[in-house]
Amino acid sequence: MIEEGCPHRFEFRGAVQVYEGDRLSGVVDVFSCALCGSTDQVVKRPGESARHTLGFDPSPPGQVTCILTCAKGGRADWQLCAVSPGSEMVHNCSPLGGEVKLQVTQDLKVPSFGGVEHALYSLKENVNQAIRLP
Ligand SMILES: [Zn+2]
Ligand SMILES: [Zn+2]
Repeated sequence: MIEEGCPHRFEFRGAVQVYEGDRLSGVVDVFSCALCGSTDQVVKRPGESARHTLGFDPSPPGQVTCILTCAKGGRADWQLCAVSPGSEMVHNCSPLGGEVKLQVTQDLKVPSFGGVEHALYSLKENVNQAIRLP
C-alpha cells in the first residue's frame, strides 16, 4: 500500500530511451521512492531543455506511470501517462484527432482500433531498456 502523505525519497533507477527508427526521440530518467515505491520521472527530448520536474509528478497511488506509444501509417508519437491496470484510460490521440477511451488490461495491454496502434510500457519495468516506436 502506498501511504498518503509520504515525504518521498526519490532514488535514480535508470533511464528509458525512446527511439524512432535510429533517431533518439527522448530519454526518460526514472526515479522511485525508497519509502513507498511511487515513481517519478524527468523527460528529456532532443532539442528541448530538460524539464526538472522531479517531485512534482509522482505516480498516484495504485497507478503505474507508462509511456504510451501511438502509431498510424508510419507516424508515431509517445507520451507519458498514469494508468490504473484493469480500468479505462482517457487518451488524447493525435492520429484519431481527439480523446479516446482505452481499456487497459491487468498486464497493461491496450487495444488498437481505427488503424491506430497503441502500446503501454511501464517505466519501472523498462528501466535501462530502449523502446522502439512502431
Ligand atoms: Zn514515497
Ligand atoms: Zn493514440
